[in-house]
Amino acid sequence: LVKEKSTFLSDESKTARHPCYSEEAHHHFARMHVAVAPKCNISCNFCSRKFDCANESRPGVVSELVTPDEAVRKVLFVASGMKQLSVVGIAGPGDPLANPEKTFATFKGIAEEAPDLRLCLSTNGLTLLDHIDQIKALSIDHITITINAVDPEIGKEIYSWIYYKKKRYKGLEAAKILIDRQLRGLEALVSLGVLVKVNSVLIPGINADHLAEVSEVIGAKGAFIHNIVPLIVTPDTVFEKNGIKNPTAVELQAVQEKCQGDSPIKMMKHCHQCRADAIGLLGEDRSSEFTKEEFLNKK
Ligand code: SF4
Ligand code: SF4
Repeated sequence: LVKEKSTFLSDESKTARHPCYSEEAHHHFARMHVAVAPKCNISCNFCSRKFDCANESRPGVVSELVTPDEAVRKVLFVASGMKQLSVVGIAGPGDPLANPEKTFATFKGIAEEAPDLRLCLSTNGLTLLDHIDQIKALSIDHITITINAVDPEIGKEIYSWIYYKKKRYKGLEAAKILIDRQLRGLEALVSLGVLVKVNSVLIPGINADHLAEVSEVIGAKGAFIHNIVPLIVTPDTVFEKNGIKNPTAVELQAVQEKCQGDSPIKMMKHCHQCRADAIGLLGEDRSSEFTKEEFLNKK
């Protein structure tokens, strides 16, 4: 057991230093993502595997993949020069929990070497329930689950397949399993005291009218904040081939307002759709200052 402290902190203490969970904190505290997780266990119709996972990151970007050992060295290097650094997250470039050895080896190394940094994870949620013990042991107290639908009939339009317990599922069956695992994973995290952010990709013509229901369901299950991110259509994806368009800023705002109206949870409106290797305050990206060459050459 590396550290046990954060599950005993109040929600306010947890969010006060996390730039994504607190609008106030995002002016003062920095986050960094380490890209250690290349594989994924589902196929979202807005995803091209050539780029970062759209769960939490800006599609169309290729992040610099590092090993767990390199990730820990990178974190220590950045932390030594960036006093505002408060959170280290793993958000891709695939799904962190589809790469559990790499993801948890990285978190364990950071928890041992830099115990003051908070740990953060973003996932599609398919295998969350299988990793609850590791999440608890490492006190990972901020977790984002991307839930784009709570109705499998809508989910089947968003996901082509899932790969779960050595079996591939498609269509409605895939969406039913995924949504069930996401919602049960959310409940398990909330009961552990983890602050759960839910991301939903706003997909015009598919889930735009459904996101208020998503907000209501996740709010009732104890999610802390809902972050609706606009679809960014990427080349070579099912949605691009089907002619799905990006939502406009006006559409995004209308959906956010509708969700806020129906849901007791807070809406996140300051997300910058960062890269899976982003570094710095939200809205700035200093990842190019901390390349592999730089931190691996640092003694
Ligand atoms: Fe792509 Fe979806 Fe997997 Fe993320 S969760 S890597 S968006 S398929
Ligand atoms: Fe925060 Fe959004 Fe960036 Fe994730 S993608 S680190 S939620 S600002």
